[in-house]
Amino acid sequence: MYRFRQVAGGRYVVSIGNHEEVVGALAKFCEEMGIASGSISGIGAVSEAVLRFFEPRTKDYADKRFSEQMEIANLMGNISSMQGNVYLHLHVTLGRSDCSALAGHLLSACVNGACELVVEDFGTKVERVYDPSIGLNCYDL
Ligand code: FE
Repeated sequence: MYRFRQVAGGRYVVSIGNHEEVVGALAKFCEEMGIASGSISGIGAVSEAVLRFFEPRTKDYADKRFSEQMEIANLMGNISSMQGNVYLHLHVTLGRSDCSALAGHLLSACVNGACELVVEDFGTKVERVYDPSIGLNCYDL
């Protein structure tokens, strides 16, 4: 599913396997390494992705699936915990074959090529809690 190497302190280089689902693999990695807060950045290539847009006015989501070869120009996110589970908040910019870009929350994506990430473990726990006034699971700091 993935390969990794710890490179310094709480920092890992992670390679997600070809044809694997990125978000599920990342969640599994965080669970297996016991990472309760941290940050994620990466690049790669995918053949399919589901992006999510949050509409504050309605506190609702719109999800869209894209089935084509795309570059992960930038994957950026954070790791926290909610009700004992790993919680990933991931944003992505995807480059299309005409070099235009799509962007949004990353819900899922299938690697087609490579997916190379750096995961930093903050070594502490950061929790989330639902804020009904915003409609989002926000940091509980
Ligand atoms: Fe977000």
